[in-house]
Amino acid sequence: MQKIRVGIVGYGNIGRGVEAAISAAEDMELVAVFTRRDPKSVTTRSGAKLVHMDEIASYRGAVDVMVLCGGSATDLPVQGPQIAALFNTVDSFDTHAKIPEYLQSVDAAARQAGTLSIVSVGWDPGLFSIMRAIGGSVLPDGNDYTFWGRGVSQGHSDAIRRVEGVKNAIQYTVPIEQACERVRAGENPALTTRQKHVRECYVVAQEGADRARIEHDIVTMPNYFADYDTTVHFITEQELHEKHSRMPHGGFVFRTGKTGFTGEENRHVIEYALKLDSNPEFTGSILAAYARAAVRLSREGVSGGKTVFDIPLTALSPLGRDELIKNLL
Ligand code: NDP
Repeated sequence: MQKIRVGIVGYGNIGRGVEAAISAAEDMELVAVFTRRDPKSVTTRSGAKLVHMDEIASYRGAVDVMVLCGGSATDLPVQGPQIAALFNTVDSFDTHAKIPEYLQSVDAAARQAGTLSIVSVGWDPGLFSIMRAIGGSVLPDGNDYTFWGRGVSQGHSDAIRRVEGVKNAIQYTVPIEQACERVRAGENPALTTRQKHVRECYVVAQEGADRARIEHDIVTMPNYFADYDTTVHFITEQELHEKHSRMPHGGFVFRTGKTGFTGEENRHVIEYALKLDSNPEFTGSILAAYARAAVRLSREGVSGGKTVFDIPLTALSPLGRDELIKNLL
């Protein structure tokens, strides 16, 4: 059986996570990693070949699917449609409010080229979106709850690093256990932003910086921290490196709802939980599974822009359809 030939575009945290997943997949091989940097300045963990982005088009016919691992803010809006015009693609675009617009731009490029692109693959958006869709379909009379953490939020960490006097920082989003318990108990609570999560910040201050002012600037920052109970801990650069350099994450998706005739209702709780030691490695594994699906479906003649809602489980699994039905149904 010929292996699925994969390219990775962008070599950051997610790029390395995809590399690990491809190395472990028996039906896939990594052809090359494409980067905008000087390829000589970067070394891949697996020894895979590094190629400059300018040469990507010459890999048409040699790569079945490109896994796009650039950032959602500025990389993917440009790279997504550009590369979809040349290859099948999978990406983890996660700016929730802009997904419809992004999908449209990738869809237009993929349709014209006859390629298949699956956008916004990961765990949220991604696996959590699937669980929310299943929950709402099965229990239409109910409520959705999503809690994130305990985990590092890159966006919030970046926001703290922009505060004057901050040398380095990391931010954890932490779900409030009592709120999760109330949802689990089927109370259907109406929860405000502040009642669902707290934010823990670990900050390395520049020498001589005014710590009280830094703390005030963080906890009152609109959009990022003002709506939450936020704690700020000042630590040394060494402590930051030793205790906060891993990238754990996770979260919970709940659907609570009721069935039955009025006055005789029964209550139900669906809970889907993730506890991740490494957010990038887990996200990379999801991207690898969807890369397999993209190639299989493309070979069946499917093209255009798709999301996780459009992809059948039989295309994702390394097991064939028959084995999947026999073993897991
Ligand atoms: P990184 O910042 O680590 O990498 C983004 C890009 O930056 C890389 O593709 C790389 O491009 C470039 N880069 C990486 N390291 C360096 C460096 N040392 N110097 C210069 N450039 C560098 O981002 P992540 O991999 O952590 O995340 C990528 C995206 O994945 C995020 O925007 C996030 O939105 C998304 N994500 C989605 C999830 C989901 O559940 N859907 C979960 C987690 C993340 P190049 O090689 O071309 O220079």
